[in-house]
Amino acid sequence: MTENSLKQMNVYSVSYVYTLLVGDHTRVHWDKYVWNRLSIPKHRFVIWLAMKRRLQTTEHLHRIGVSNTSNCLICGNGVEDHVHLFFSCYYSEKILKKVKDWMGIKTQKQELMELIRWLSRSNHSKFQKQVLAAVWAAMVYYIWGARNDAYWNSQVVNIDTIVHRIQKMVIERVYSVLPKKLSRKDREWMRSRALLVCN
Ligand SMILES: [Zn+2]
Repeated sequence: MTENSLKQMNVYSVSYVYTLLVGDHTRVHWDKYVWNRLSIPKHRFVIWLAMKRRLQTTEHLHRIGVSNTSNCLICGNGVEDHVHLFFSCYYSEKILKKVKDWMGIKTQKQELMELIRWLSRSNHSKFQKQVLAAVWAAMVYYIWGARNDAYWNSQVVNIDTIVHRIQKMVIERVYSVLPKKLSRKDREWMRSRALLVCN
């Protein structure tokens, strides 16, 4: 801040000066679904990067001159940016479809931010929303992992394998941190999801 900008202020306001100094960190609508207790910590971090569009996608690597292509490493069909990976790519689209079927979700929403918004507005209970947020985070984590596998090992993990990993990880996590006070309805709901997953 300059002396001039202080002089221009008619009344000294602490909050105004604070905003000027640290910037306006507007609260985002999605943070509680990203920093969600039922999500696995490493999944939270990757979904947070995805929401901020900070993952080092091939499109980004191409733009900064590191990669000679911007094409998706998984399907080779389309520019690999955040929208493509989550979930326009045929690979992630199929994973999303299978996961939605597992969770009994009807929404046609297809993009990560839209899916979070849909979740915040849906009439699921608080617990169910937390489980679904953990599912979104696991999906982003494993799709990003599959993309990295394609990058480093030139191989793409089978879709059903990824879906199974997502299901197993979420179920394990949810049951390990299950809230003590859980309604019978929520308990049944979770149990019915878990029963759909084969070992
Ligand atoms: Zn793709």
